[in-house]
Amino acid sequence: MSTVRNCAFLTLILLFAVTSNLMAQADNKVRIIMIGAHPDDCDEDGGGTAALYAQMGYAVKFVSVTNGDAGHQTMKGAALAKRRYAEAQEAGKRLGVVYDVLDNHDGMLMPTLEVRLELIRKIREWNADVVIAPRPNDYHPDHRYTGVLVQDAAYMVSVPNIAPDVPALKKNPVFLYYQDHFQRPNPFRPDIAVDITSVFDKKISGLDAHESQMYEWLPWIGHFLDQVPKDKTERIKWLSKERAGTINSEVRTALEKWYGKDHAAQVKYAEAFEICEYGSQPNDEEIKRLFPMLGK
Ligand SMILES: [Zn+2]
Repeated sequence: MSTVRNCAFLTLILLFAVTSNLMAQADNKVRIIMIGAHPDDCDEDGGGTAALYAQMGYAVKFVSVTNGDAGHQTMKGAALAKRRYAEAQEAGKRLGVVYDVLDNHDGMLMPTLEVRLELIRKIREWNADVVIAPRPNDYHPDHRYTGVLVQDAAYMVSVPNIAPDVPALKKNPVFLYYQDHFQRPNPFRPDIAVDITSVFDKKISGLDAHESQMYEWLPWIGHFLDQVPKDKTERIKWLSKERAGTINSEVRTALEKWYGKDHAAQVKYAEAFEICEYGSQPNDEEIKRLFPMLGK
């Protein structure tokens, strides 16, 4: 009897050890939150990196600060917001990320205290180690103000008296900017470059879920609606070409730093990020911990 009891006791201890070890491992996993102005922005600027994290079992959340209710030539308002919410959920499923859409009007975003607090809560609730957002220099006011709002949330996420209903983070996360091509007041600096070649098709599949944007609104506002193929397979091929992008020399140099020359020369598709001065400042070792896909 006592042997049985001892055995059960030992099994319990073992179970406890395994579970707590698993929990510790889960706790050690980096948590990423990507923030964009519209439901498709995170996908465009960080979808490949997100897919790589998701494949490696890391938790990624996308947040769209507006509901996208202005981005269409024939639809608008609640009906459009509903359609775009559904598209975002489908994109999230394809990329393996959680997709939140905040209920702020598209095209009318302002960097208010109310939205700042909304974002502080989102970053805290996700217990984020890495926060990625646009730079505050951009052609679109919603992108600019999303950049300002996230910069304003940096540091404040660790101040307990601000939005006290959600516990403050113990550590200010690393804040990063997505790559853009704007030159003033200063061009984007690729501190980190991620090889997304292996997940490029997945990134495109995520974008393909945003039908109202990829095949309707963006081609319409860009005056190339007549180029969009009707057939679903053809249009994904078209989208892949449309979204291939080019790797500039600065990003190629960053790829060489993180992957070595030989690997970097083979990279077909990449996403790059710049470190924001208002978050924790990671050294190279810490960057490798936060971006475990680097060098692989
Ligand atoms: Zn946008």
